[in-house]
Amino acid sequence: MSTNERWSFSESVARMAERAFEGLDLDTGIAAAIKACDSVLQVRFPVEIRGRIETFTGWRAVHSAHRLPVKGGIRFAPITTQDEVEALAALMTYKCAIVDVPFGGSKGGLLIDPRNYERSEMQLITRRFTRELARKGFLSPATNVPAPDMGTGEREMAWMMDTYKTLYPEDINYIACVTGKPVAHGGIRGRVEATGRGVALALREFFRHSDDVESAGLAGDLGGKTIVIQGLGNVGYHAGRILEWEDGAKIIAIIERDGALINEEGLKVESVHEHIVETGGISGFEGAKYVENGLSVLELECDILLPAALEAQITTANAGAINAKLICEAANGPITFEGDEILNQRGITVLPDAYVNAGGVTVSYFEWIRNLAHIRFGRMERRYDERRGQHMASALESMTGSKLPEIVRDELVRGADELDLVRSGLDDTMRLGYQQISEERHRNERISNFRTAAYAVAIKKIARSYLDIGVY
Ligand code: NAD
Repeated sequence: MSTNERWSFSESVARMAERAFEGLDLDTGIAAAIKACDSVLQVRFPVEIRGRIETFTGWRAVHSAHRLPVKGGIRFAPITTQDEVEALAALMTYKCAIVDVPFGGSKGGLLIDPRNYERSEMQLITRRFTRELARKGFLSPATNVPAPDMGTGEREMAWMMDTYKTLYPEDINYIACVTGKPVAHGGIRGRVEATGRGVALALREFFRHSDDVESAGLAGDLGGKTIVIQGLGNVGYHAGRILEWEDGAKIIAIIERDGALINEEGLKVESVHEHIVETGGISGFEGAKYVENGLSVLELECDILLPAALEAQITTANAGAINAKLICEAANGPITFEGDEILNQRGITVLPDAYVNAGGVTVSYFEWIRNLAHIRFGRMERRYDERRGQHMASALESMTGSKLPEIVRDELVRGADELDLVRSGLDDTMRLGYQQISEERHRNERISNFRTAAYAVAIKKIARSYLDIGVY
């Protein structure tokens, strides 16, 4: 994070959490134990690339191991630092607690620009990094389970899992050492879209709470709401696509690395995404106004601003000019502590990252369980449920003497498959998470915004585990 802000990313997260600690009257020893980052591993390793030896630097931070395994993505990025990894690990601790995923918080990063390397070179580098993590105790299905983040995806997770398997073939649960794998290699259906879908589900739940909607200066539901998205990667693309198709929201601007597209009538997320895949950027996309200074488009008037790219995008420099009623933090840390203070003073509602983007770790949790169970969800009961549904439909038809409408019959006889179950579990998780945060915000007079309420919800749960089990 290179801004003029006074606080680094990890300090920014700590200060945000501090607001919640202040509102909770917690034992100071327990508060200090929760705040501290447990351990950080830094590795440097050489890899031969195109006949030359290159040395790479990577980190894995464990913020809190009050529950095991610890969980958190691994990012491959040209600007990652130890401070950033520590900040993201802390966010993971709070995130898992908010959505009741029984993991501690961790995060990893490798300093690299993946765009500069061939596929085979990336495989060599990823496998070597994996060996460093596993050998030093920072990767295993029981203790530390990475997932994708910026610059990593199914491909990297498959390489990591395969490397771990070759190191520890006797570990019967080797497949659970990472999540976000391809479905053919132990992944779970719905993981790729999970974080983006979780963002959409968070917004849906927000719009079910009319008092919260009203206090943000909004009304009605998501239909027709104007949205500006920053970053059309994994999270931004799926969130945008779902909000456009399933909720009827209007995506009026998309900001990417090379500028922004604006169309007040609404952009087709799928078409913009296809253009990015084909050309590598958004410039040249027809049917929208192109603005070279993408950052300035964060200030466009809209109902919902959805930063889904990287941290420190809303700072002291632009928080005063933001023109959205609601900011939904799909990325991790897109608002700095100081930026957040300005937004709070201006009365702009912010749904915080630690809750909003928790869909990824939620479905990662489902994947981890599926891997430990060594069976796909729905495999045992799907056909049984279908047969029961068929009997029920037939009984209804013979009792009433008339045929059920096709659509009702289909719905009744259809057994849930893995994707149905994953989406249902994700929906339930995001709803419950929101309800707890909103309740805390309304209940605790010392808490005035969603972020502090979310941290308070998390801290209370983590403190409970320290109080119940003790420290030794
Ligand atoms: P990604 O690499 O798939 O996408 C990031 C997108 O942002 C890319 O399209 C990139 O071109 C764009 N981008 C980069 N710099 C930009 C800039 N300066 N302005 C505008 N756009 C820019 O990454 P992702 O997985 O979608 O992650 C995005 C954010 O969400 C990160 O903060 C990440 O930590 C967080 N997150 C991701 C997941 C997940 O499951 N992938 C889960 C939780 C949180």
